[in-house]
Amino acid sequence: MNRSQSTTETQCTVGTQTDSMQGQVPRLSKVNLFTIMSLWMETFPSDEPDENKAQIKKTGLVVVANMKIIDLHCSSRALHAGQVAVIKHGSRLKDCDLYFSRKPCSTCLKMIVNAGVNRISYWPADPEMSLEQEVSNHSNGDAKLDAKAVERLKSNSRAHVCVLLQPLACNIVQFVEETSLKCDFIQNILRKYPDFSTALFYDYRQEKIKEYEALFLISDNEKHKEILRLMGLENLCENPYFINLRQNMKELVLILSTVASSVPNCYDFGFYLSDNSIESDIPPYHSISQDITRHCIIQARLLAYRSEDHKIGVGAVIWAERSSNTTDCDGTGSMYFLGCGYNAFPVGSEYADFPNMDDKQKDREIRKFRYIIHAEQNALTFRSREIKPDEKSMIFVTKCPCDECVPLIKGAGIKQVYAGDVDIGKKKADISYLRFAELKGVSKYAWQQNSHCAH
Ligand SMILES: [Zn+2]
Ligand SMILES: [Zn+2]
Repeated sequence: MNRSQSTTETQCTVGTQTDSMQGQVPRLSKVNLFTIMSLWMETFPSDEPDENKAQIKKTGLVVVANMKIIDLHCSSRALHAGQVAVIKHGSRLKDCDLYFSRKPCSTCLKMIVNAGVNRISYWPADPEMSLEQEVSNHSNGDAKLDAKAVERLKSNSRAHVCVLLQPLACNIVQFVEETSLKCDFIQNILRKYPDFSTALFYDYRQEKIKEYEALFLISDNEKHKEILRLMGLENLCENPYFINLRQNMKELVLILSTVASSVPNCYDFGFYLSDNSIESDIPPYHSISQDITRHCIIQARLLAYRSEDHKIGVGAVIWAERSSNTTDCDGTGSMYFLGCGYNAFPVGSEYADFPNMDDKQKDREIRKFRYIIHAEQNALTFRSREIKPDEKSMIFVTKCPCDECVPLIKGAGIKQVYAGDVDIGKKKADISYLRFAELKGVSKYAWQQNSHCAH
């Protein structure tokens, strides 16, 4: 893994497969997954007023320990993302890797470095302390001074402060597009509106592309170069590195926009209580906002593109909500992260250890279903915090939980399930989805049209 040693370095050979675990289905590398997740966290819905013009930009942050996500944050009005991480984790940040959607400012960087983090990776566009306005000569020069301070902190720190973007697997952009159209959420809209054509999906996606390119890319080449130079990345300003860097960034934003479009905010679709879910034994927890629900399900959809399953990638993420009378400094408000996962073979196994095929013609004993760890199971196993029985905890899953996972979710004390439901009540070759429909004591939210539950 020589890439983990790299400092300011971007690998720019587009289209080269770097992942040794790659099979027929293209996957996101872990580094690219963490990077995309950091961009996505920047868009976490917030009640706070939009401060578009502010010099300090909202920033998303993924905290990684041993190559696993242990927390997701974003800036709030009171604190920057890096400060949130220090407040939340303190010296436990030692040896962690932090993935930022923007290069952190010196105020954040000095504290993070001081905490002993191993690596700080950032998205190489406009930094947290925005240089975009400054390169157009419209301000006092503070951002340039801050960029200098950041460079000085960086050169004197043991932590690697770097840009870690990796070339994407061949065809992954197309694969994400196809699988997004096939995912449960788009399928549910299609069921209700058979004339919902793929053209509408693409229209919606086009809007998202525009929105996220404006947020995460710098449209003007020269402006981008100047910002890179101010951030100490002059080596990326030469070609072919510059062209490759921009291409790589554009593709990652395209993947994010496509996945975000697979749970669209349209047709009055949202996550609403399933009919059979309204029972007296469910504690009176209100549902969370549709915007936040959609955001968390899209996190799960992104995780699914790291799946080791050749057929169906599944992602799951667990969040909890603090009791309403406590305030919090995190940009995620009262919501806090508990854990996440995707379906994969047991930790430590080599690629060839287990069968990959689920071919119906093959012998039952060589099927993969006995070996694969489900997304929900990984999210529960590697959760970074305990599930508190008196707090509202919720799991977001891209597919209906199977019979193996339903009792685990209930046993763990999770109060709400937000999931895809195309397979609910079905029994497939090796996996059955019958128990979810019967699950009691847990609120189940299905992706459906609002009118369905309005009464
Ligand atoms: Zn900062
Ligand atoms: Zn399962």
